[in-house]
Parts: sequence; structure tokens; C-alpha cells
Amino acid sequence: MRKLVTVRRIDSISPIDGADAIECAQVGGWKVVVKKGEFSEGQLAMYFEIDSWIPENVAPFLCKDKREFNGVAGARLRTVRLRGQVSQGLLLPLAEVFANCLEDDDITEAVGVQKWEAPVSAQLSGQVRGNFPSFIKKTDQERIQNLKRDLEVWKNKTVWEVTEKLDGSSMTAYLRDEDFGVCSRNLDLKSDEKNSFWTMAIKLNLEAKMRDLGSNIAIQGELIGPSIQGNKYNLTEHQFRVFDVFDIDAYSYYDAQRRDEVCDVLGLLHCPVLDAEHTINQDIDGILLMSEGFSVLNEKAQREGLVFKSISDPNISFKAISNKFLLAEK
Ligand code: AMP
Ligand code: MN
Repeated sequence: MRKLVTVRRIDSISPIDGADAIECAQVGGWKVVVKKGEFSEGQLAMYFEIDSWIPENVAPFLCKDKREFNGVAGARLRTVRLRGQVSQGLLLPLAEVFANCLEDDDITEAVGVQKWEAPVSAQLSGQVRGNFPSFIKKTDQERIQNLKRDLEVWKNKTVWEVTEKLDGSSMTAYLRDEDFGVCSRNLDLKSDEKNSFWTMAIKLNLEAKMRDLGSNIAIQGELIGPSIQGNKYNLTEHQFRVFDVFDIDAYSYYDAQRRDEVCDVLGLLHCPVLDAEHTINQDIDGILLMSEGFSVLNEKAQREGLVFKSISDPNISFKAISNKFLLAEK
């Protein structure tokens, strides 16, 4: 589970040009607008990341229009801009019950926060065969804002493959000891032609092709197109764009070369690779700026962001989501 709410030390507080009542607090790579004088540098506080579903009792001032998620009244934390300053997440004074907590402690469950998820259409859910298989890693990356210390180690050293992050729905097709399966982000799905993931697997003839290949692997990619996340790329039909091939026996991702070979042999498209060998010399703000831009798939659409994967260890990766994209999100 993602650590959505943590006990954090405030790195700094800085003024916002032209604003008297608010100022900007920095927590790791995150910037949050707060009331002037409410927090001070070095203080421990509770930090709620964007996409937290905040229960009403935690922050009643955010929950004026009554909304519910998974039966909990509350609000979704979004990226906003206040007086020109991008603000992400929520900072609250450390509640007394957490007085003994240490920096970085995960208090997500204790405060009753869940990760907000957009509602999925019926075509993307479907009949469940089981949970997402434990022999495959679930696709997910940490956000760069939470990786300040790692970044210091990576800077000017680690070489990264940079791909465009596509905004669709995560899909996995696997073959393991003769057993073929198709999964959504969180579930193993029953074979069903009404389901978009299975429809794509059938269209691409993935089962026969993977059996021919004969290795125990999972092919993971993003399903994009009509009625998925607003079809930002204006596609007329669905596409499956691979971002990883996972070696089930080794419990590890293939490197870029082996992954590309699988895509070639199976005739699969990959997520756009923007830079095959990138060395980072920027700080977090610089990486966030770099993540902004238009999509390779639609020059009129803001891209969601970038995914960085280490060339030497494809198991190390992170994402940088474009603030331009987040601010424009409905
Ligand atoms: P999020 O969409 O914020 O949950 O970020 C993680 C997800 O991004 C992964 O689970 C993938 O489904 C998706 N994704 C889209 N494009 C890429 C890409 N180029 N590389 C890796 N993951 C990607
Ligand atoms: Mn996504």
C-alpha cells in the first residue's frame, strides 16, 4: 500500500509573492500552501499526499460539497494553484495521538485515509478469477517528490530510460507453467469477450504467441483508447502499450533490450521512449518541469508525465507527474 499520510518534518517555509495570508511549506519534494504562521520550519506535521480520500472528520473545511468514496464522506486531495503557487496535498498539525511517532511513520490507516480511484467502467472490471497473482509484481512507481534522498544518490550517476507515462488502465497478460491469464491492475480476470482487457488479449493473439515463446513471463502495459480515462489520445480503437516484461521465475523485470525483443517477436507496441539513456542532473523541481509537455500520441494533449527506469536495474523506477496535467484534470 502507498504511504499516503506520513509524519513529516517541514523542510522550509517560504513567502508567496503578493500573498499576505498564506505561505508555502516544503515537505521533501512536495510544496503545500498553508496559512501564514501556522507552521514553522523543522516542525513535525501530518502530510497528506494528493489523491488521498480525506474523511470529513479529519478536514471538515475541505468537505463542503457532500461526496462519498467507498462509503466514506470526504474529499479528494487534488493539485491546485493558489496565488500562482502550485499546492499539492494537505499539511495538518500533528495530532496528539501521534505525538510519539517518528519522521516518515505511515499513519494512513490510523487517520482513515484511502487512495482515491476514478470509477471504472463495466468493460474494465469484469468477472473475477482471483486476486492479482502474487508471483507477479504489481505495477506501481513511487513519485519523485517522495525520493529526495534517493535522488541525491542517483544524481549524475544512474542512467535512466525515460518513457512517456500513458493515462489508461494497467493490463497484464501472463503465462506460467502452461496457465495463461489476463489481469487488470488489481485482479486476475475470467476470460470474457465483454471485458476490454480480454478483448485486447484475444485481438493480439497473446495466448498463442506467449505459448510459442514458452517462457514464464508477464507482459505489462497500459490499455488506452475509447472510454478509458477520457481517451486523451483521441484514438479510434484500443491500444495495448507495453511498459514491462516480468520474468516470473526470477521475480524480476527484463532489461530494456530483452523487453524490446519480446515486443518485436510478439508484434507489440511499447510506451513512447523519450530518452533511452538519461542522466539526471536536476533537482526534484527540475524533474517535475521536465515531465511537462505534450503527448507523443496526441500533440494537443498534455502528457500525464514520465516514468524513469534504471538501465542497470530495471527494478528501480519512479514517476514524475506533470503539474500542468494535474492542474488541468477535471
Ligand atoms: P499511476 O497511474 O499513477 O498509478 O502510476 C502507475 C501506473 O502507471 C502503472 O501501474 C502503469 O499502469 C502506468 N503507466 C503508464 N505508462 C507507463 C510507463 N511508460 N511506464 C510504466 N508505467 C506506466
Ligand atoms: Mn494511471
